[in-house]
Amino acid sequence: MSTKQLFLAPTAAPTIANLPKCNIHTHLEGSVRPSTFMELAVEHGIERKPSLDVVSRAMQVTGAEESLVDYLDKISYGYQVFLDKKSVQRIAYEAAEDAALDGVIYLELRAGPVTHSHTDFPVGQVIESILLGLHQAEDKYNMVCRLIVSALRNHDPKENIKLAHTAIEFKHDGVVGFDLAGDEAGYLAQPHAEAFSIARSNGLGITVHAGEAGGTDNILYAVEKLKATRIGHGIRAIESRDLVNLLSQRQILLELCPTSNVHTNTVDNIKNHPVSKFYNEGIPISIGDDDPITSRTSVSSELTLLQNNFGFGIKKIKAIQQMSIESAFITDQTLKSKLLQIVSAP
Ligand SMILES: [Zn+2]
Repeated sequence: MSTKQLFLAPTAAPTIANLPKCNIHTHLEGSVRPSTFMELAVEHGIERKPSLDVVSRAMQVTGAEESLVDYLDKISYGYQVFLDKKSVQRIAYEAAEDAALDGVIYLELRAGPVTHSHTDFPVGQVIESILLGLHQAEDKYNMVCRLIVSALRNHDPKENIKLAHTAIEFKHDGVVGFDLAGDEAGYLAQPHAEAFSIARSNGLGITVHAGEAGGTDNILYAVEKLKATRIGHGIRAIESRDLVNLLSQRQILLELCPTSNVHTNTVDNIKNHPVSKFYNEGIPISIGDDDPITSRTSVSSELTLLQNNFGFGIKKIKAIQQMSIESAFITDQTLKSKLLQIVSAP
């Protein structure tokens, strides 16, 4: 057991909490409320009398995590309750609701549906259930929700090709992007190139988790070969002057989630996070919460962290929201302009 102290993002500053915000990097699997997990676990006979303390410790960081793999273990605990349409719709609705209550007006939630699928609950139905939850949140809150479908690095490339085809079927119902997630240190992106080519040529936006638990080559491959216009994290780009220049020249957005990077040991201390350097280099960035329940954070908390630790004022924080909308995967330009107006309002 590590003796490392648990790092937590600060409580959101009211000025930031009240701003209209975007979250374009957040996972459904890291958004399951422990209370919901408990209710669903009882309903499905997984546990008879779960304790909130035990469930919370299983699902949320404790400070003992030493790598992305340890962190992913926390997230996968919640998989147990992704059992049917109703459960998944509820989890998705609540993820969007938590975002809305944090002041998020544009949400691109991502999820890896293959993991939750089984004979009676095929991948298409998992996607449909998530979209139902998102539409339900859009009806209740003043927000726009879209879905990014995540392929996992450790899955069979053929499975991910099938997933790309299924994702495309939901293009007109809210699926806007295709992502690669999972154990970056253990699995390369290369075997999944065809799935990305299919998704991209059929109009889905491409983002890839890279340069988090792996090096600069992974980022370069995602940009050059998978044609990603956004990179999940991309922290290690800072190690290469050429890569920093390339990201800036091509305006490839880095989806940064600072607290999660401390929890996965991608950065050893929040003070060493390169967020300011990327910003000053003219690389577009977004600030997401990655796994808000796992990391016990929110977009407002992450932005407050930027304010406290790196001196980001409201002007810069608004600029980040604008960059997020500009790189958002929605194709409806009228909607994009409207969202841009909302986040830019004085
Ligand atoms: Zn992520």
